[in-house]
Amino acid sequence: MIYSLHMAMRGQTNHTVAAMRTALVGQPTLRFDAMSTIGPAPVERSVIESVTVKGREILVQWDDGIVLSTALRFSGEWHLYRTAEMWRKETYRARVVIEVEGWVAVCFDAPIVETYRQPDRKRHPQSGGIGPNISHPKTDLSGCTQRLLDYRYADAMISDVLMDESVMSGFGNVARSETLWAVGLSPFAKMADLSYEDCAVLIETASRIVRSDPDTSPSVYGRNGQRCMRCRGTVEFKIVGASRRNLYWCPDCQGRLDRRLIPSNLLQGDHTPTHPAELIYFSDAVAARKRFKIFDDLDKLG
Ligand SMILES: [Zn+2]
Repeated sequence: MIYSLHMAMRGQTNHTVAAMRTALVGQPTLRFDAMSTIGPAPVERSVIESVTVKGREILVQWDDGIVLSTALRFSGEWHLYRTAEMWRKETYRARVVIEVEGWVAVCFDAPIVETYRQPDRKRHPQSGGIGPNISHPKTDLSGCTQRLLDYRYADAMISDVLMDESVMSGFGNVARSETLWAVGLSPFAKMADLSYEDCAVLIETASRIVRSDPDTSPSVYGRNGQRCMRCRGTVEFKIVGASRRNLYWCPDCQGRLDRRLIPSNLLQGDHTPTHPAELIYFSDAVAARKRFKIFDDLDKLG
């Protein structure tokens, strides 16, 4: 008898995830195909470690550190079939195929499919494990702010640090772009340049965004080339950082603390700031908790 599990996602996400978990977790991967998705793939026969749900996003994680994230929104759904069973949707609509012994899981029509490598927590031995889950309404946000302030790598970009689970968990890639846009901060700002207030506002905003209605249209995520809803600038897109994930931002209204906007010749030597970009940068940095650090860095650059 052919046994089939075929479920519409709305309201049945947990059911689907439970079925996928039973079929996939602990199994070596025989086939992984994420079609046109850019990003790393799990190595052949790597074992599926977990299938989890986060809002309308389903995540599959392999033991080699690869994570597959599928944001389902309205159209996407996962189906689970027995090997060789007929699919109930057209093949061309498949965005991901995962095959293990006896089972094939297929994700159809998901608008956002990404793979990335889980940041290696072994590189942060003093980070104290995984940070609080900010999608929970009662999470200690000041604790997250403190983790962000205490981040060990002053040189790290904020867009990378937000994805580091040692700072906070329960925070996804869509929320990263949305949060940075909401606070008007450059994704390329360095940790050393962030003030206590910057960190606190980032965490509060992150928490609000991850708990907002998952069907709300993003303000900036996925809007590559379109007009910014705030300043009518043009939204840009880049794959960034160790996690190799999509980042969307508006360079026109998210220039704050972006060192790249200062002409490099002005970062050198000992002189009084006069260039407008430089003045804005320094006035932002006046509030920064590690101001001395910036001047140290600037000295080194000179
Ligand atoms: Zn803008």
